[in-house]
Formats: sequence, C-alpha cells, structure tokens
Amino acid sequence: MIALLANPAQIGHQAEGHPERPERVAAVIEAIAKSDIGLVPEPAPDAPETLIHRVHDPSYVRMLDRAASSGGGYLDPDTYITPLSMVAARSAAGAVVEGVQRVLDGKAKHALAVVRPPGHHAEHAKAMGFCLLNNIAVGVVAARDRGIRRIAVLDFDVHHGNGTQHSFESDAEVFYASTHQYPFYPGTGGAGERGTHGNVLNVPLPAGTSDRAFLGAWEKKIGPSLDAFKPELLLVSAGFDAHEDDPLAGLDVTTDAYRELARMIKGWSIAHGDGRSVWALEGGYNLHALGDSVVACLEVLRDSATEGSRRVDSEADRG
Ligand SMILES: [Zn+2]
Repeated sequence: MIALLANPAQIGHQAEGHPERPERVAAVIEAIAKSDIGLVPEPAPDAPETLIHRVHDPSYVRMLDRAASSGGGYLDPDTYITPLSMVAARSAAGAVVEGVQRVLDGKAKHALAVVRPPGHHAEHAKAMGFCLLNNIAVGVVAARDRGIRRIAVLDFDVHHGNGTQHSFESDAEVFYASTHQYPFYPGTGGAGERGTHGNVLNVPLPAGTSDRAFLGAWEKKIGPSLDAFKPELLLVSAGFDAHEDDPLAGLDVTTDAYRELARMIKGWSIAHGDGRSVWALEGGYNLHALGDSVVACLEVLRDSATEGSRRVDSEADRG
C-alpha cells in the first residue's frame, strides 16, 4: 500500500520563467492519474514548527517569513520566494512528515510526497538551489521522534544534496548516500566527503554518465554500505533531473533506470526497513520525463511481488 501525498499550496510558489514551477507537480499528478496505479494525492498538515526548527535556525525561518510577507523576490540568483512560498514550503515538509507517520503507523508500506519547493539544498540557515526548507531532513527528525534511530537518506537527484548532508554528516545514526553529476552545482559531494563517522557516501558521476554506471554506483558502491549500516527506515530524495531529457543537467539516465533503482530501493527497504520507504520529490524539469519516471517508481513500489537483488544484478549488468 502506498500513501501519495501532495501540497496543493505549492501553486502559490512560482516565478515567471523559472524551471522550478507548479507545472512539475501537475505533470506528476496527471501522469499518475493516466496510469493504472489508482492513487489520488492527499493533502497533509503543515510540518510542525518545532520540527522545522530542529533542522533550520529559527532566525532563518523568520527571515524567510519576513521576505515572503514583504513581497518576496530572489534570495540568490537561483532561488525565489513569493508571498505564498512559506505556505508551500511548510506544507511540502508537512507532506513528508505525514508520509513518515503513515508508514510508521503501518497505514502504508511506502509513501511519496509529490511536493515543491524541493528541499535538499536548503542549509541550516541558508536558502539555495530552489530550496527553502529541507523537506527530507524534517522527515528524518519526524522519524526520530517516533523512536526510529537508524535512518538512511538515499538521494538520486542529479545535484548533490548539500543541505541534507550538512544536516546529518556528524550524526552517526543517519547514513546519507548520493549520486550526482560532478563537478556541478552546488559544488559539494566529492568522494572524499565521508561524514564524521563514515556515515556519508558520495558517488560523483561525470557528465554523460548513462544507466549502467548510474545503477552500478547504487548497486555496487552504495548498496554494500547501506547493508553494513542497517537502517531501520529509508528516506529517499527523489529527484529526476539526472534523466537524459532533463534540460538542467548532463547525465543520461533513462526512465527504465529509475525503475531499476526503485527495485533496488524496495529490496533494501525489505532487507532493512521492514519494507518501508518514504520518498520526497526533489528536482526534475522535463515534465514528460518527470511524470513517466515517477510512475515507473510507483509501479515498482505498488507491486506486491518482491524483486530480489539477483534480479537487480542481472538487469543492471545488461543496462
Ligand atoms: Zn536537482
């Protein structure tokens, strides 16, 4: 069973000509509606302010609120805020929190929060890379409050999740793993960044990387480390901008590769997380590629048949 969550308030966060736009979420929801997955997105309560403040400096959140209420504008060359952006951001983080609660309550095995603005670049006290609040990081602290100690965050967005890594790189009980184009925005995510306790694993990939190396990074590098870490819950920063059709980045990952990666993640969730995972949308700027890729992942998560690692191995080798 899958919980599909969204934040309708995302529509209030938009800037003319910006690639991070409301149509992204609309495209995903439309692609799901056209598929046979049979899920309709549900709204969720805003993230509690107490959880947001465990990820972000309260004075930073106040600064964002002031920027929004004074009419908004650009916080940096990439990152805008509108009068309604903080409503969107609080509800985006809230959808991830709700996904964590549903999964931990046993109401769903997997949850996907189809939300924006994205979150993984947002630092403790800095907005960047289209991100205001770090949705997946707020999900981590929500899971902590439910007694989950060992949490893995898997980030397959084409950009390194600097904000998420920095939030947890000194926390021995959070494992952060990322594949990303490198060198590329935001500049972090070198293979030498391993976290205070060896709890960070970055696999930087050169421009032009295609399915085989992308899936190989997850299967052969990240998979064994994840197995050694033994998480109780998997959270996934699901950005689809490594897609070959994405206009913002230069990796050549196909929709089929996202399907294979979803099979791996599902397999790890069964091995380590009691079959549970919570996914949050990050990037992905080609609307067709984004919709198709999300549907491919949901089809994998929906299927009750478990895909063993042997299947994943053989398909990755063929890729
Ligand atoms: Zn991205």
